[in-house]
This record gives sequence, structure tokens and C-alpha cells, in this order.
Amino acid sequence: MAGASRGRTGPDTAVPSDRPPAQTARRRRSVAPAAAEPCAGIAPSTRDFAARLLAWFDRHGRHDLPWQHPRTPYRVWLSEVMLQQTQVATVIPYFQRFVARFPTLPDLAAGSTDEVMAHWAGLGYYARARNLHAAARRCVALHGGELPRGLDPLLSLPGIGRSTAGAILAQAWGEPFPILDGNVKRVLARWHGIDGWPGVPAVEKRLWTVAEAHLAEVPAARMADYTQAQMDFGATQCTRSAPACLTCPLGAGCIALREGLVDALPTPRPGKRLPEREALALLLENARGELLLQRRPPVGIWASLWTLPQADSDAQLREWFAGEVDGDYDAAEAMPPIVHAFSHYRLHLQPLRLRMVAPRPGVGDNADLRWVGRAELASLGLPAPIRRLLDSL
Ligand code: SF4
Repeated sequence: MAGASRGRTGPDTAVPSDRPPAQTARRRRSVAPAAAEPCAGIAPSTRDFAARLLAWFDRHGRHDLPWQHPRTPYRVWLSEVMLQQTQVATVIPYFQRFVARFPTLPDLAAGSTDEVMAHWAGLGYYARARNLHAAARRCVALHGGELPRGLDPLLSLPGIGRSTAGAILAQAWGEPFPILDGNVKRVLARWHGIDGWPGVPAVEKRLWTVAEAHLAEVPAARMADYTQAQMDFGATQCTRSAPACLTCPLGAGCIALREGLVDALPTPRPGKRLPEREALALLLENARGELLLQRRPPVGIWASLWTLPQADSDAQLREWFAGEVDGDYDAAEAMPPIVHAFSHYRLHLQPLRLRMVAPRPGVGDNADLRWVGRAELASLGLPAPIRRLLDSL
């Protein structure tokens, strides 16, 4: 579920800094390796960046997103976390269901892990949901059930990095803090002609510097709009593969456009091939048509979600089956394999289906392994590929 629309590069890195906007440098830069000029500011002739962006936002920006009405700190925070790695269009229904069940931060804190994960299931990157839940509980314990209004206390909460904290402060309270998600990195790298993969600390530092510098151009009353404008502009105008340079209101000052570097910036990550892993899963059905589901451990992939009993090898799965289930393991039928890309590897999961099995005598349902009727599946947190598999039965 890559963020083509919002284009986030992932939960941002916490950088505990609360510096004021940087001063603007009084010279124009050409494209150069970031390390050679790591703290360059912005040029005087291009200080209308924010004004042009805001004018564009007034005509073309997104003004009716559900988290904008009302734009409370809790709703802004929730939307920012959901939008990491995920498109706006995908997030909207999840956001609406989530706030319908957990309308306030204390409601979220009081929810069970199962309920929170069930409302997140399908959005992926489940550490976000666990961090959100833990952060809500900490806010109840330490901040009277509210999000704290300050960069450092926000950064101390699980799952909130510098960009997310800046987005919350700017959008919920109109405070002058920069953001630097994937879209903003792309726009700034192109507009300022900043070379180098943004994952390199020196390049990221330079992007933060220019992001901060632009805040000095933003009218105080428009900080929330400016923040949204940057996101929208990257998502719809200065897109990764088809930037609309011909109609761009920022074209006059754009170094990438001037130098013919639009396709080359931002510099892509040096090539990296995901390792491949294999695993097997058992889709077991009893005489009543119920399915045996197992809850994943609280850390690791698909943490705390309900999924099929799974093992890395046939021998491991056979051994588990022999201890838990009464049936003929060798009669299991292979189903079409599932290929799922995690951030750090690609999983090839081979489901094996076996019907009319039963628990071994003395093996009953427990907190981490139980038989589940089809009607109950919707209320459980299941990884998206497993839910698709079960829906296809
Ligand atoms: S001119 Fe093109 S590359 Fe430059 S900011 Fe506009 S859309 Fe992006």
C-alpha cells in the first residue's frame, strides 16, 4: 500500500530539535552534492515559494478531508499516522471507521488491543497502530487525556517523529513547525535542486533547513493551510513520475526544471533487492466450518493480528499440527501461494488447506489459538493478504 497519493516514506525519524526557522542565505545555489553545502538556505529571489503555494492551495488543495472537520489535535494525529506509507483515498474510510469507534483520545486509550488492531487491519505497517494505542495511554497517564502541545513532549510519544510532530503542531494549533514527509522531500529536492538520496543524513539535514527557512514566508494565520498545501502539492502537482511542470505555479524558481533535473531528483535510493523468505500456513476447518486462527506474538511481522498457523518449514508445521490437531496432515491441499512484501523482505507463503479436522483431546481454545466462525472474522484484526485469502473461500 505504497503512498502514491501522500507519498510518505515511512514513520519519520525522531530528531529532538526545536530550533526556530533558519535564516535565509543570500545567494543562489546550483545543484551540488549535499555534503558540500549541507546547510544552504534559500535564495532571496525565490522567497515567494510559500505565497505561490498557498495561492495554489486555495484553488486546488484538499479542503474537505474528514480530519479537517473538525481539525482537533487527536484527529490530526490519527490522520498523520495513518497517512504514513498510505494513500489519502485508502486512509479516508479507515479514518472514519476508527473515529466512529474511538471518537476521542481517551476512548482510544480505553480500547482493547484486539479492537484497535481490528480497526487498523488492512492498513498495514501495524507498528503504527500499536504505537498509537500506547501513545494514547501515555497521554491519559501523563497529559490529562490530551496530546501535549510542544515538540519535545510530542517526540517523546511512541510513533511520533519530527515530521509528524510538526504536522500536528502546525495543523492543530497553527504553530510554525516544518514537515518533511516523502512528498515534501520531493518538492524541496526539486525546487532547490538538492542532490543525493534523502535517506542520507546530510541530505535530510539540508532538506530540513530549507523546510524551516520557508516558514518565515508563511502568514501566521495560514500555517495549517501551508502544511496541507505542501502535502497536496507533492501528491497532485509535483508527483514522482508525472510532475505537471507546465502548469506549475512554482516553475519560475524551480532549479530542477531550470537545469533539466526533474526526472533525476530526488535522487533514488541506491539499489537494494529485498531478500526472499518462504513459509507455510495451515488453513484448517472443522466440521462446523470454523477456521483455526492463531494470534501472532506482540512483536514481529503482523504483530498481535490473528492469522493462520504458520511455520518456516514443513517439518515445523507438521510437528505443530501433530500436537494440536486431530487429522491427516498429508491430506492437506496446496492453495495458490501468497506473495507479500514487507519493508525488509518478501514473503512467499504457501497455504495448505485441510477440512474436517478437530482439536486433539485436551486442546481447547485459548487467548492465542481458537476456532472462529466465518461471521466473526470481520471483527478480528487479520493481515490483509490473509483476509483476502479467507474472503476468497
Ligand atoms: S516545476 Fe515541476 S519539478 Fe518544479 S516544483 Fe513545479 S512540478 Fe515540481
